[in-house]
Amino acid sequence: MKSFIDVPVDHDFPIQNLPYGVFRATPMEPARVGVAIGDFILDLTTLEDAQWIASISGKRYFRKGSLNAFMAAGPEEWRHVRAQLTALLSEGEPRLRDDEAMRRRVFFDQGAVHMELPAVVGDYTDFYSSREHATNVGTMFRGAENALMENWLHLPVGYHGRSSSLLVSGRPVRRPHGQLKADDGPPIHAASKLLDFELEMGFFVGPGNDLGTSISTRDAADHIFGMVLVNDWSARDIQKWEYVPLGPFLGKSFATTLSPWVVTLEALEPFRVEGPVQDPPPLDYLRSPGPSAFDIQLEVGIRPPRAESVDIVCRSNMKYLYWSMYQQLAHHTVNGCNARPGDLMASGTISGPEPQSYGSMLELSWRGTRPLTLSDGTERRFIQDGDSVVMRGWAQGAGYRVGFGRAEGTVLPAV
Ligand code: MN
Repeated sequence: MKSFIDVPVDHDFPIQNLPYGVFRATPMEPARVGVAIGDFILDLTTLEDAQWIASISGKRYFRKGSLNAFMAAGPEEWRHVRAQLTALLSEGEPRLRDDEAMRRRVFFDQGAVHMELPAVVGDYTDFYSSREHATNVGTMFRGAENALMENWLHLPVGYHGRSSSLLVSGRPVRRPHGQLKADDGPPIHAASKLLDFELEMGFFVGPGNDLGTSISTRDAADHIFGMVLVNDWSARDIQKWEYVPLGPFLGKSFATTLSPWVVTLEALEPFRVEGPVQDPPPLDYLRSPGPSAFDIQLEVGIRPPRAESVDIVCRSNMKYLYWSMYQQLAHHTVNGCNARPGDLMASGTISGPEPQSYGSMLELSWRGTRPLTLSDGTERRFIQDGDSVVMRGWAQGAGYRVGFGRAEGTVLPAV
């Protein structure tokens, strides 16, 4: 399968991918929905208005400047639209390929547009689903004997995050202030000194569930529109003092960076694999009928101030996660809590078994005791002002990859 748009084999956005995003051609223009193909965006708002694509229901999904309406439409509509886009972009189909005037209207250069968040996110939840991450953090703070809390192997632990501070890739992140407390002495109000990233992936909820009902693991895939990269920026010093007993709060809520392109579960289906063995076996409502992990390679890089290149500091994989997205969604709704289209649920830091696969500076530098040396000779225990953190991810197919683009943010000094 090839497109008439030229896409190199190691490019994130071949015709097998077709991730959805929201963009403005110029900052003043209304937001539109598009799919990424190679270095271009195909403008679905214009294609829909021109009736080059249509939905089963007859509804128009792409005029609102967000993906919420399309996310709510469900898998039948998703497949229907994707099939039309695949046909329209394929190399043997002349309709768009040979229509110069239409091509000028519907193709935009990705480098020239302004990306927006893909959806209006009503609620954002962050899980804690990597056994390796939870074990590392537990070992640091409670010792190896008590690394995992008693509940961890029985349910996907999570907390309610803050949707107002979600940022699309490229937006800067201001170093936060807060209460910090050294081991000896009273708390002080100061800028965080221990700013960190967390390598995560998140999924957008498609059709929701009514209050009082729940979504089973069997049905969960029909309620998940697609996935993005997530950097759950974390101020470790704020977090450490505030988190007892209710969990993360201001140490997390100042910023969360998302990649702009939502890769659909349909595009990721060839990369669905068995996850880790779950022992003890989870309760019935958390059992999944089939493979529910995804083989998605992940990496994190740091670009120091004024540097041109990025130093890769972490290589991990989505498949390491102990709790799957299906289990997360089933657990989130088991009490009757209603999920809504466009809600974002993030995985928690995705750490793997090897030290170079740890998904945060907290783990990579082991609480600051083993600093990393970057290629410019400087050391990092945590993230410094002016550093850019760049996350990337892709599933590798035979002769193509289904990629996520990037989730990037540069840290500005505290004010
Ligand atoms: Mn997190």
